Amino acid sequence: MQHFPIFLDLARAHVVIGGGGEIALAKLRLLLKTQATITVCAAHIEPEIKALAPRVTLVNRPVLACDLGGARLVYAATGDAGEDARIARLGHDAGALVNVVDNLDASDFITPAIVDRDPVVVAIGTEGAAPVLARKIKAQLEDTLPASLGSLARIGKAFRKMADALPQGARRRAFWAAYYNEAGPRAYAQGGAHSVSQALDKLLAQHLVQSAPKGHVDFVSAGPGDPELMTLKARKLLDRADVVIHDRLVTPEILELARREALIISVGKQGFGPSTPQPDIHDLMIEHAGQGAHVVRLKGGDASVFGRLDEETEALDGAGIPWQVVPGVTSASSAAASIGQSLTSRGRNRSLRLVTAHDMKGYADQDWAGLAAPGAVTAIYMGKRAARFVQGRLLMHGAAPDTPVALVENASRPDQQIVSATLASLPQMAAQLEGPAVILLGLAPRQAHQTLSLQEVAQ
Ligand code: SAH
Repeated sequence: MQHFPIFLDLARAHVVIGGGGEIALAKLRLLLKTQATITVCAAHIEPEIKALAPRVTLVNRPVLACDLGGARLVYAATGDAGEDARIARLGHDAGALVNVVDNLDASDFITPAIVDRDPVVVAIGTEGAAPVLARKIKAQLEDTLPASLGSLARIGKAFRKMADALPQGARRRAFWAAYYNEAGPRAYAQGGAHSVSQALDKLLAQHLVQSAPKGHVDFVSAGPGDPELMTLKARKLLDRADVVIHDRLVTPEILELARREALIISVGKQGFGPSTPQPDIHDLMIEHAGQGAHVVRLKGGDASVFGRLDEETEALDGAGIPWQVVPGVTSASSAAASIGQSLTSRGRNRSLRLVTAHDMKGYADQDWAGLAAPGAVTAIYMGKRAARFVQGRLLMHGAAPDTPVALVENASRPDQQIVSATLASLPQMAAQLEGPAVILLGLAPRQAHQTLSLQEVAQ
C-alpha cells in the first residue's frame, strides 16, 4: 500500500485550488462537502465557479506564494503541466500537501472515489491503477448503502452519551447492532428521523433491563484459504466475534474479515514446531466465553476434519459453555475442484477415504489393502513427510507403481500449486512442496497444463 487512507479534518483548514476550469470544478464539488476555507486562484475563472462566491474566495490571477500561507491542501488543477508544476513547488514550499490532478507521481496524496452518506463516508482508492474498477465499486456501494444510513448514523451519534448507560462491551454492541440492523431502518422507513429518535429511546429501555449475554463459542470453518470459499454464516460470525482464536492454516485475508476491535489470538504451530498445548486452547476459550465474549474458534478447512474438534467441544461441555459448529470446505474438496476431478465416480470408486498420514504417535496405520485397491481414491492430509512411508506400505499391499497421484499445495490460495505424480514418484514430488498440501491418491489432474511435471521439478 503506497497511499495510506486517512480522513483529514478540514473544519478549520485552508485549501487552495490553482485553476478555474472544469478540472478545478470537479475537485471543488467534493471540497464543498467539507467545512474548509477554500480559495480558487486563476487568471480565468469559469462562471460556474464564480457563482460559488462568497463560499469560495476567488482570486483572479495565477497562484502566488502569498496565497498559500497556512494552506493545508493545494490542488494544482490548471490542466497545464508547467503551470501545475509551478503551483506544486509553491505548495511544497508552503508546507502543504499537494495534489497535481491526474499526475500521480507529482502528488503527495490522491483523492479517492467517495460514497457519501455523511457522516458515513466510504473512500475507494486503487492507487491510480484502475479508476474504472473504483467507479464500479462505488456504483455497487451506492446501490447497497441505503440513503437513510447518514441520518441513522447522525442520530445515533447524538445518542451515544445516552447509550453509555449500558456497560461497555458486548451489551453496548448488541444495542447498536439492533439499532443499525433493525430498529433504526424500520423506524426511519415508517416515520423518518423523528421516529428514529423515539425508537432509540425504546430500544435503550429494553436493553437496560436485559441481563448480560452469556458467552459462547462458535467453531467456524475457515475453508482452505480463499475467503470466498467461506460460508455466509462463517463470514457473519467472524464479523461479530469479540475474540478470534485461530490456527496457523487460517490465511491473513480471512483474519482481515474479523471486527477491528476483536482480540485475535493465534494458537497455530509451524510445521512440526511447538504449538499452543491443547489444554491451553481450552482454557483460552473457556476464559473468554466465561466473561460473556462471543468467541470464534476459527479452524482451517472444515472444523471437523483433523481439527481436534471433539476435544474442544468436550472441554466446553465440561465448563457449561454453549457452542455450535459451522461446517466448511475441507482442503480435499478444494484440491479435487482445482484438479477438475470428482472425489467419487460411478464405476471407479464408491467410497472416499480422508486419512491423516500421521497421528500423535507417529506415522498413522491405515487399511493399506483398501487404499491399495484399484480405483480407490484417498485424500491424505498432513502427508508430505510421510510420503515415502505411505508409498512403501501401498506398494507392499499390491498398489500399482503407476497409480495416479495429484498433490495440491496451498489449495485455493493465490500460490496454489498442482503437481501430477504417480505412486512411484510420490516421495520426490512431495519433497518439493513447502506449504500445506493434500495428496489425492488415485486421481490425476485433469488440466495437465496447470501441473508441474517431474522433469520440471528436477531442473
Ligand atoms: N481441517 C482442515 C485439515 C487440518 S489438518 C481441513 O479440513 O482441510 C492440516 C492439513 O490439512 C495440512 O497438513 C494439509 O494436508 C491440509 N490442508 C489444509 N489447508 C490446505 C490447503 N489450503 N491446501 C492444501 N492442503 C491443506
